[in-house]
Amino acid sequence: MTSQTALDPATLVASLPLETKVRLLTGATAFTLAPEESIGLGEVRLSDGPTGVRGLKFSGGRTVALFPNATLLASAWSEESTTEVGRLLAEEALAQQIHVVLGPTINLHRSVLGGRLFEAYSEDPLLTGRLAAAYVRGLQDLGVGACLKHLVANESETERNTMNSVVDPATLRELYLLPFEIAVDESDPWSVMAAYNDVNGVPATEHHHVVNEVLKGEWGYTGLVMSDWFATRTAAPAAAGGLDLVMPGPDGPWGDALVAAVRSGELDESVVDDHLRRLLVLADRVGALGGLRDYPDDLPAPDSDVRREQLTRLAAAGMTVLTNADDTLPLARGNRVALVGRHALETIDMGGGSATVNPPYQVNVAEGLTALLGDAVDVVDGVEVRTRPVPARPGFVVDPDTGRPGLHLTLLAADGTVLDERHDAPSTVMVGFDDDFPQAVARVRFRARVVGEGALEVGAIGVGRWQVTAGGTELAWTLATSGTGFAEEMLAPPTRTDQVHVGSDAVVDATVVLRSSTRSVAVGDADPGTDAGAAAEPLAGVGLFGLVARPAPEAEDDVIARAAAAAAQADVAVVVVGLTEEEETESVDKSTIALPGAQDALVRAVAAAARRTVVVVNAATPVLMPWLDDVDAVLWAGLPGQEGGHAVAAALLGDQEPTGRLVTTFPAADGAAPAWSVTPVDGDLEYTEGRFVGYRGHWADRAPAPAFWLGHGLGYATWEYADATLDTDGDAPAVTVTVTNTGARTSREVVQVYLEPASSDEPVRLVGWADATVDAGASTRVTVTADARMWRRWDEAAGGWSRLADGGRLLVARGLGDVRATLALPTA
Ligand code: BGC
Repeated sequence: MTSQTALDPATLVASLPLETKVRLLTGATAFTLAPEESIGLGEVRLSDGPTGVRGLKFSGGRTVALFPNATLLASAWSEESTTEVGRLLAEEALAQQIHVVLGPTINLHRSVLGGRLFEAYSEDPLLTGRLAAAYVRGLQDLGVGACLKHLVANESETERNTMNSVVDPATLRELYLLPFEIAVDESDPWSVMAAYNDVNGVPATEHHHVVNEVLKGEWGYTGLVMSDWFATRTAAPAAAGGLDLVMPGPDGPWGDALVAAVRSGELDESVVDDHLRRLLVLADRVGALGGLRDYPDDLPAPDSDVRREQLTRLAAAGMTVLTNADDTLPLARGNRVALVGRHALETIDMGGGSATVNPPYQVNVAEGLTALLGDAVDVVDGVEVRTRPVPARPGFVVDPDTGRPGLHLTLLAADGTVLDERHDAPSTVMVGFDDDFPQAVARVRFRARVVGEGALEVGAIGVGRWQVTAGGTELAWTLATSGTGFAEEMLAPPTRTDQVHVGSDAVVDATVVLRSSTRSVAVGDADPGTDAGAAAEPLAGVGLFGLVARPAPEAEDDVIARAAAAAAQADVAVVVVGLTEEEETESVDKSTIALPGAQDALVRAVAAAARRTVVVVNAATPVLMPWLDDVDAVLWAGLPGQEGGHAVAAALLGDQEPTGRLVTTFPAADGAAPAWSVTPVDGDLEYTEGRFVGYRGHWADRAPAPAFWLGHGLGYATWEYADATLDTDGDAPAVTVTVTNTGARTSREVVQVYLEPASSDEPVRLVGWADATVDAGASTRVTVTADARMWRRWDEAAGGWSRLADGGRLLVARGLGDVRATLALPTA
C-alpha cells in the first residue's frame, strides 16, 4: 500500500524533542499507541488476533465474529481461502476502527505438547510461511496491518517469560525463521512481534542478530517490531537490539531510562529516530497519519447471513477425514443417530488466551446436527472433560434481581466504592488488565439464584480470599497460584469447589478480596506478595475471577452406560470427543496428548454397542486414539468457530466436503515423536532434534511410525495417480501428474510433493502442493511447482546459504504415508 500522506516520516521525527519521541515508543494503553497532534499522528489501535478481532478490551469487549482456529484454516492447504480469511478479518477490524490485527501466529508445531499450537498453522515451515503470506495480503489489501508473531523460537509455553530456546543456526534458518522470511518476502507485513523467550541466550526483544541483522538487514524489512506484552526487559539494550515499540503502556522499561541512555551517550539518538520513523510508517500505512481515514459503514455484522455462510464454509473445508471404513461417511439421511459426548453439547470453538473473542453465538454440534436431521438425532451428554470446574452452567443460575440467565456482578474499590455493577453477567470476569475505572478493583462480588434443588457444586475461580454463602452454608477459601507471570492468573487461575445441598431458589453470594500473587505486572496497587492469605488490607490485583455453581456431577459409569444404551438403539453413533481450553491455551503446555477424562472409555463402550461408530475430534492438535480400530470413521474438526456445529453437521452429511489434510503429524503414542519435552532444564529448552521435526524425523526413523502423517486426509473420494512427469527447467523442479477421481462424488484433491535429498543427513521436506476439484470419474493434470527455497542449506561455517547437492527424489504423495509416485532428480 502506498503512503496515505505527503508527510515524510523521517522529517516528522526530526521535528520532535527526544522526550516526545521516546514517549511515543511505548504504548499508551493495553492496545493503543499514543497520538501526537503536532505531527498529525492519530491514535493507532491494535487488537488480537488471530482468529477474530477482539477489539481493545481483553475480556467483556464487543461482540465479534469467531473464525475457525488456525490449524483448521490451515488444514485446507489453500492460500486462496487463507487470503479470504485475512480479508474478512480486515472487515471485522475496520468495523471497529482497528488498525493492526495481532496475527498471524507463525511459530511451528515443534512438540505436540505446545499449549498454543492451536493458534499457529503447522509443523511445516513452507506451509506456514505461504499461508501466513496469503493471510497478510488479505488483511493488508484492505489497509489493516498484520503482525507476524512471535519472533522467534517460541514453540511452547512452559516458563514462557524466561525460557531460553537453544537452536542451532541451520535449524533456526531452515525451520523457525523460514515462515517469517517467506511472509516478509511475499507479503511485506507491516509489523512483527518479538517473543517472550530468549533465543540462544539473548532475549528476543533485544536480539540484534535476529532483528537488526536478519530481519531488517538481510531481508530488508521496512515495518515495525513491537514487543510481546510485558516482554521488554531493558531500555538501551532492547532499543539497540532493534525493538521499535514497547507494549503495552503507558508504563514500561523505556521512558526516562531510554532518554537517559541517549543523553549519556549509551545509545545514539538516531536509533530512537529510526524506531519512531518505523512507527510513523506503520501509522501512515494504516491511515493514522496526516488525517484520519474513512471507514466503511456497510460491513457485515458478526451474526449476519453472509458471515454465517463464510464461517461455515471455511470451517468445513478444513475438517479432515482420518479414517472412513466402508464409506460410513457421509452419513445417510434417514438414519437414526445417537449423538454422544460433552463436546456435542459444549463444543469447543476456540482456544484459550489472547486469541479468545466474544462471539455473538456459538452453535454446538447437537444444534447443528439437529438442524439438519431433526428428531432423528438423540443427544446424550458424555463424561466430564475438564479438571477445572466450568463456571455456572447456562440455565442453572439466574441473576437474583432480574431473574434472567447469568448472575449479578459488583466490582468494588478498596474503600468500598462501587466501580461497576452488572446484571445478567457471565460467571467470569477479567480484572485489572485493561480496566478504566477511577480506582483499582479490590473486591468482586457475585450473586446468583440457583434454579432447581439438590446437590450443588459450588466453587470459586481466581486468586484471593473468598467468602461464599450458598443457601445456609458458609465457605471460606484462599486461592493462590504458583505461576510466575500475569498470564497464569488470567488463563489458568486456581479453583476450588465443594458440594453443598441447597433448597429451591437458594442464593449463592460470593465475594473475593483480590490479591495479585506476582510482581510481574503492576496494575493499580498490585500487591507484590505471594501469600494471598496474609493480606492485612484488601489489595488490588489482576486476573480472572469466577463463580462456579452447577449440579453435582453424575457417576462416570452411569454416564457411559446411558450413552452405550442410546448407541445400541441407533443406526449410527456419533461420538464427539476432544480437548478443552484447559489443554489448548496460551500460557500452559500439555503433558500428554491423551484425551482428558474417561473419553476413551466412552468411545469404546459406544463402539461396542453401536452398529457403526463415527468419532468427531474437536481439538486443534493431535490426540491419541487408542480405539481407532474399533470405530468406523474419524473426522477431525479442529476448533471450528461460532458456526462450528453447523460446519460439523455439513461435513458429516457431506453437504460440504471436509477437504482437510493434516498440518501436523499425529504421533501414535505419548513421547513417540522426534521432539517431545517442552520443559526447560535450568531455563534452557534445547531443540536437540534440529531440523528433524515432525514428519521429517519420523521419515528418518528418529521416531516410531506416526498414527497419521502431515498431509493425510481422505476427503469423500478415492484417487488414482498416473503419468507423473518432471520438468527441471526452472529454478526448482515442477511435477505434473494425472489424478483421477475414482470415487462417487465431486471432490477436491491436494497433491503434495516432498523432496527426499540425496544425503540422508538432510531431512525430507515438503516442497510444494497444488489442488484440483474433479468430478466423479473424471481426470485432470495437476502441476506442482516446487519452491526453490527448499533446496537451500544453511552453511554454518560460511554463515550463508548454500545449495543442496543435486540428486535425490521427489515423492508425490497424499501425506508421506501414501506416496503415489517417485521421481529421481538429475544428479548433475
Ligand atoms: C500474547 C500475544 C498477544 C498479546 C496481547 C500476549 O500474551 O503472547 O500473542 O498478542 O498478549 O494480548
